[in-house]
Amino acid sequence: MATDYYAVLGVRRDASQDEIKKAFRRLARELHPDVNPDPKTQERFKEINAAYEVLSDPQKKQVYDLGGDPLSSSGGGGAGGFGAGGFGNFSDIMDAFFGQAAQRGPRSRTRRGQDAMIRLDLELDEAAFGTTKEIQVDTAVVCTTCSGEGAAPGTSAQTCDMCRGRGEVSQVTRSFLGQVMTSRPCPQCQGFGTVVPTPCPECAGDGRVRSRRSLTVKIPAGVENGTRIQLAGEGEVGPGGGPAGDLYVEIHELSHPVFQRRGDDLHCTVTLPMTAAALGTKCPLETLDGMEEVDIRPGTQSGQSIPLHGRGVTHLRGGGRGDLIVHVEVQTPAKLDAQQEELLRQLAKLRGEERPMGQFAPGQQGLFSRLKDAFNGR
Ligand SMILES: [Zn+2]
Ligand SMILES: [Zn+2]
Repeated sequence: MATDYYAVLGVRRDASQDEIKKAFRRLARELHPDVNPDPKTQERFKEINAAYEVLSDPQKKQVYDLGGDPLSSSGGGGAGGFGAGGFGNFSDIMDAFFGQAAQRGPRSRTRRGQDAMIRLDLELDEAAFGTTKEIQVDTAVVCTTCSGEGAAPGTSAQTCDMCRGRGEVSQVTRSFLGQVMTSRPCPQCQGFGTVVPTPCPECAGDGRVRSRRSLTVKIPAGVENGTRIQLAGEGEVGPGGGPAGDLYVEIHELSHPVFQRRGDDLHCTVTLPMTAAALGTKCPLETLDGMEEVDIRPGTQSGQSIPLHGRGVTHLRGGGRGDLIVHVEVQTPAKLDAQQEELLRQLAKLRGEERPMGQFAPGQQGLFSRLKDAFNGR
């Protein structure tokens, strides 16, 4: 008398293939000889295998439902005994036990989107103090027609009939080592396990469309050329309406007519006539903070630098600001009229500088000290 296979798996007679498979997997995990070597359990394990072999195969199930015993009728033994159905079982057992096989399953239609990058031009003062910018971005967004599903409204994705939703098809080949089973992605559904019979007309089934939108970006004070600001989840939406990648806003600092930025310090040059350098003066300078007077002390040398502390760029981390460094360039008059020449000769005479010897030293002292000043920010 035939065993009640439905009772063995603990499912109703009208159970779906999915329910049968789930019941089998659950029992197989519990009763597998590796887990539970007890002989009685092993007997049960053989039973559930037999039950699943029959109930998972539509043809055998039909024979069984009509009162026959599909396992003994396949008889004859030997070669024919190990049919495709039997192997289906085998791979399901593998699935139940080796997570690898189960994980391999159908791949998701939904994937994370790519990161996107946009370049943003900033004026020096915007970089120095931070700003808020409205930017236009062009990225993939979730298709509103199908909500990212990829199926036309009123339709839905269906389980692939070639792989029965597994996303892969298995093939058994015989070799001298015995039977070898190989799996490959299902050619009908490309491994998704589902097919979309009527793709969404808006996105052609991709689940996303390109769109232009405005974003408000807060730029922190102290950014510089090449700084990237990451906006999480504002990049490209993935296939199947998958989560969006990140958007990177790369700063491009525009050059300033007067100031050159080095780190968080700003540098500029002021050219002064010889007389002003000697007598001292005050020069107005439009800094990032507005008009200021640069104090040129009497006797200022060419190449000297005058620092305006805290008038540079805000430090991106840690607050505080760099300096503004004014480099002095003293101009010697190139053309003198008779009166000016006479005055200068009188001055030279007064200072005993009519025939100066000059002071010689190795290298290019002037240039060295200028570089050193710039480097030290003095
Ligand atoms: Zn769509
Ligand atoms: Zn398929």
